[in-house]
Amino acid sequence: MNEGTHDASMIADAAHWRARDLAVLWHPCTQMREHMDSGAPAENGRGDVLPLVPIAHGDGAWLVGRDGRRYLDAVSSWWTNLFGHAEPRIADAIAAQARTLEQVILAGFSHQPAVELAEKLLSLAPREDGRAPLSKVFYADNGSAGVEVALKMAFHWFHNRGEHKRTKFIALENGYHGETIGALAVGDIPLYRRVYAPLLAEAVFAPSPDAYQAEAGESAIDCAERAAVALRELLERHAGEICALILEPRVQCAGGMRMHDPLYLQRARELCDAHGVFLIADEIAVGFGRTGTLFACEQAGVAPDLLCLSKGLTGGFLPLAAVLATQDIYDGFLGDSRERAFLHSHSYTGNPLACAAALRSLQIFDEDGVLARNRVTATRMTELAAPLAAHSHVADVRQAGMIVAFELTRHGDKCTPFDPALRIGLRAYRAALERGVVLRPLGDVLYWMPPYCIDEEQLVLLAETTRTAIDEATACA
Ligand SMILES: *Cc1c(COP(=O)(O)O)cnc(C)c1O
Repeated sequence: MNEGTHDASMIADAAHWRARDLAVLWHPCTQMREHMDSGAPAENGRGDVLPLVPIAHGDGAWLVGRDGRRYLDAVSSWWTNLFGHAEPRIADAIAAQARTLEQVILAGFSHQPAVELAEKLLSLAPREDGRAPLSKVFYADNGSAGVEVALKMAFHWFHNRGEHKRTKFIALENGYHGETIGALAVGDIPLYRRVYAPLLAEAVFAPSPDAYQAEAGESAIDCAERAAVALRELLERHAGEICALILEPRVQCAGGMRMHDPLYLQRARELCDAHGVFLIADEIAVGFGRTGTLFACEQAGVAPDLLCLSKGLTGGFLPLAAVLATQDIYDGFLGDSRERAFLHSHSYTGNPLACAAALRSLQIFDEDGVLARNRVTATRMTELAAPLAAHSHVADVRQAGMIVAFELTRHGDKCTPFDPALRIGLRAYRAALERGVVLRPLGDVLYWMPPYCIDEEQLVLLAETTRTAIDEATACA
């Protein structure tokens, strides 16, 4: 089934496009050296060869290669896709918008999709009893840019009040907020950060509430409480210096799909209030239903002061980010001087095509009863993932809604990580790809974050392939 049509001329066509690609393209987040032998059939004995797969088209949860092979997109194309590839309703909405208004400067001008999307996002945003709701939307054009907007807004708001000493951010250990210099400064993943450290603004890192780091006898709630105590100490130590705490609610995705109890978010909210510091929720990866609720903050019953959205915002069709802010933050920029205003902009701020895609995507949530259907799918994912917990190289199976992660270690316990030089995750990736499943790992963590349209047959294929990929990848260890 996942072989599809697959003849000699198609294989030649794929090779042709692979060669043309490698002649001109520099791929993201890739050691290009690893692609250089990738024309050869998958296994050549070296651990570090990465196949380059030319894709012809998308079809629901499948990506279809130019060689005719089909790949189940179990990572939703870097966590962007929600309802499957080439979803016709979103494609049609973009086409219709393109014939009406493709782009217009958003300074001094307005357009219907930008207004309607802002209204819709504000109506759906997390709410908290006794707290004024998020009430203004600022657009940017990718997740990192959205994070930059939130950080600059938080800093500038205090600056406008004459609080010039609030120049620092608190972020969580093992957190990720994007690759631009400002976003990287509040990220804590050494692989992405270390080289650029001399360029980055100083941030204060608080221990992660990550439940995988539980000490003997500790529950996820204990981890959350312990991390909250450390956060309180940092806020006290840096009193008057911090403008905001930025965090990824419920799941630190790029940090290996590490999950925490929602209690931490409640504690973080209380502590931010007590210290007069903004809470920035980066729901760029976890927003739009990934963790079971539309937004992850809902699981803690908290609302942030600034909410960053991107990735699934357009259903995975176009780059767009939205930063939702409170009225209080917005008001802090009003005044007579231009410097008091938020003079940040991107050329494509509020692009009409992207806004139209996002509006259509949000309608699909209602039309198809997506969150209710996802609860059924997530239960099935729980059942299919459970047997893998007993695997001799699996230390942890964890889940938050439509995200399931498998932590691979040498002896299947938390104390014996694999030697990174073994590239176990990469081996598993290649083994799965050969079987028609995209399981792009995070180090030695494999995860499922599939499009919501994934069906029973595809889920079974995903679970079986995950087991085979773990077996093959760890056979060398
Ligand atoms: C992906 C991601 C970003 C950055 O978004 P880009 O569109 O890739 O710049 C920021 N924060 C989180 C939590 C993310 O997962």
